[in-house]
Amino acid sequence: MKKILLTFLSIITIICVYAQEYHYALDLNHLQGDTLSVTLQTPPQKEKKILFNLPKIIPGTYAISNYGTFVSDVKAFDKKGKLLPVARLDTNRWEIKKANKLVKITYTVEDIFDTEQEHAVYPMAATNFEAKNVVLHTPGIFGYLEGQNQLPFSITIDKPSSFYSSTSAMPTSHTETQDVFNMKSLDELYDTPIMYGIPDTATVKVGNCDVLVSVYSPHQQVHAKQIAGWLSDLLQGARTYLGGKLPANRYAFLYYFKSPEVKQSFKGGIGGALEHPTSSFYYLPEMPAEQMKKLLVDVSSHEFFHIITPLTIASKEVKEFNYQEPVLSEHLWLYEGSTEYTAHHVQVKSGLNTTQQFLDKLSDKIRTSREQYNDTLAFTKLSKYAASTYADQYGNVYQKGALIAACLDLYLLHLSEGGYGLKNLTHDLGVRFGKDKYFLDDELFDEIEQLSYPEIKQFLLTYVQGNTPIPYGEFFGFAGIRFDPSAEHMLTLDAQADAGQLLVREAWLGQ
Ligand SMILES: [Zn+2]
Repeated sequence: MKKILLTFLSIITIICVYAQEYHYALDLNHLQGDTLSVTLQTPPQKEKKILFNLPKIIPGTYAISNYGTFVSDVKAFDKKGKLLPVARLDTNRWEIKKANKLVKITYTVEDIFDTEQEHAVYPMAATNFEAKNVVLHTPGIFGYLEGQNQLPFSITIDKPSSFYSSTSAMPTSHTETQDVFNMKSLDELYDTPIMYGIPDTATVKVGNCDVLVSVYSPHQQVHAKQIAGWLSDLLQGARTYLGGKLPANRYAFLYYFKSPEVKQSFKGGIGGALEHPTSSFYYLPEMPAEQMKKLLVDVSSHEFFHIITPLTIASKEVKEFNYQEPVLSEHLWLYEGSTEYTAHHVQVKSGLNTTQQFLDKLSDKIRTSREQYNDTLAFTKLSKYAASTYADQYGNVYQKGALIAACLDLYLLHLSEGGYGLKNLTHDLGVRFGKDKYFLDDELFDEIEQLSYPEIKQFLLTYVQGNTPIPYGEFFGFAGIRFDPSAEHMLTLDAQADAGQLLVREAWLGQ
């Protein structure tokens, strides 16, 4: 019986190898001149022509990346090892003929951190192939066959024995010199960055969630243990904020700290961070730990809260992502704005920041959004064309976007007498849509109205879809907060607040 079972299992294994699946292989032992050789065993093809693509745009960046720029020498083979005709159509696409015979594709990828090539990839979505540190931002390395995004991927990575892989994915097999990861689709693959290097890692358990912190700091100015300590307070706060449970059982914070001596290809001093469903990646300048603590906690809080928007609540454009054409949603105020707001709100709610620190943060956002951006541009429009016409206004999603969320929170608390705020609304939207469903862009305001009040829909029509600037005094007034644009502290607690205002204030800021 056992033997039969074993035979049966090995047949299944053999079938799986040739099943509809991508099999990628990389070898980090042979990084030559910042390049990586990639081998792909392709899933069997029926058609005579097929496109092999690298992504033009990826979720969360709202900008054109053109990852094909860094790929060269694409070759396609049949099972006898004979070359099949390949023609490059544009930056990101290759056409393979006689594709029904295709079994293998090979190519070379150059890393982006220090490339000589002109590009517009954000550092937190870029790749690095160096002897001491390898950043595998998967969209910059792995391509896909057009229309075959939903197939599973198996990724085999050979590595030096001193290298440790930091990622939220669990390897399906793992030895000193090799890791194998399985991803259920292209979306999952592209949302799973992996950082390799000499490990500086720490883990903390926050309620139900195992949190990994992995650090590359070339001059050891910051250590994973320190960051884990800072984040553990934040994540405890997040857990309470979200009603006692974190929305993932495993989460990885991956930090790359750039040494000033290292050459980089990004425009002047740029840094940043990018969210994924169970991890986030940070590219930040290396400096002494205490100097960067505040910034790092703020940014990490922001990326973490993306787990709610847009990673749980999002529109069709986000959940059925088009990697070749930028088709953006109108609701960046929700994805970026409410995330940025929540990242700061949680810190005042959990006592990590004082009320005045929080109000000053919002005041800075009012100032910046008015001075540096167009305050009469409808936010839904900005959002829809953030990768093209309004690219120069995109930064306002972190400024006015957060203020829209703050005012919405205050208005909800005012209308509900402190009983129902923005976090209740996003919770209910999360229940309504969940990870596997999406809303349609032009139905979102109706959905929100159904869960809350007609006044809230009117607010969204006027200040988010409309081009009317937000009268901040009115909305902060609901919580007895005085708004004076000419004062040093633009927002301050009003000692004369009445009972109704105090009720809203307590619900908004109380712990
Ligand atoms: Zn963000």
